[in-house]
Amino acid sequence: MTTVGYASANAVDSGTLAMRLESVTRTYGTGDTAVTALRDVTLGVPRGSFTAVMGPSGSGKSTFLHALAGLDRPTSGRVYLGETELSGLKESALTAVRRERIGYVFQAYNLMSALSVRQNITLVPRLAGKPVDEEWLREVVDRVGMSGRLERRPHELSGGQQQRVAIARALVTRPDALLADEPTGALDTRTGQEVLKLFRQIVDETGQTVLMVTHDPVAASYADSVVFLADGRPAGELVRPTAERIADRMTHLGNR
Ligand code: ADP
Repeated sequence: MTTVGYASANAVDSGTLAMRLESVTRTYGTGDTAVTALRDVTLGVPRGSFTAVMGPSGSGKSTFLHALAGLDRPTSGRVYLGETELSGLKESALTAVRRERIGYVFQAYNLMSALSVRQNITLVPRLAGKPVDEEWLREVVDRVGMSGRLERRPHELSGGQQQRVAIARALVTRPDALLADEPTGALDTRTGQEVLKLFRQIVDETGQTVLMVTHDPVAASYADSVVFLADGRPAGELVRPTAERIADRMTHLGNR
């Protein structure tokens, strides 16, 4: 079994973990063309932490994120969100967990262009037929710095502002965990760093759990800890990382 120190399922009481994989293997395809993207991975993400996931292209980062988000089912092993075993849920129950307990932030924002900022942020609860908690909405919008822009359309906003709206949309359901897939990949350096500072603030001030896949050592240095993947396996971890140490580790993982 492969485990990693700080974020490992066996080093930390599972009650303190927001999410965890237990012996997860994910193989795509069968026979000669089968590709194993994750190999017997056991790894936990502490509650209230900001964790970055890095690794060379093809090392399994997206598969890892999709498994935690319940977007993809492992070939074997178990995936937990808190005490809920996602890998054991039927599709309808999994959809409800994804909608209500997991916030997802994409590289490409994925906002609905025909909807206002307010409509985008409240889309998920409205689709689920849930009332929108106006006080919480105001707090979330304020936190991401989008107060006063609620009636704008996405095309009237900069890329950084659109990503802030996407983060507000992810937070509005008060998710157990926020998963981000290259959230600064489409932003210039300065705007990207503002988004990273926002993640940092959300973790520090609200105790939200954030897990982010990135290929950028500077972006990863905002996290409490960086988990490295190589060839579908955890390949070490840096706690309180600096961009220099992350870049150095990546070089040794074969990323050029
Ligand atoms: P990363 O995000 O680190 O680039 P991925 O998780 O996307 O890595 O991919 C890990 C491996 O699994 C790669 O070899 C990739 O080609 C393979 N893979 C990912 N998704 C699929 C898929 N849907 N079908 C077949 N192979 C896949």
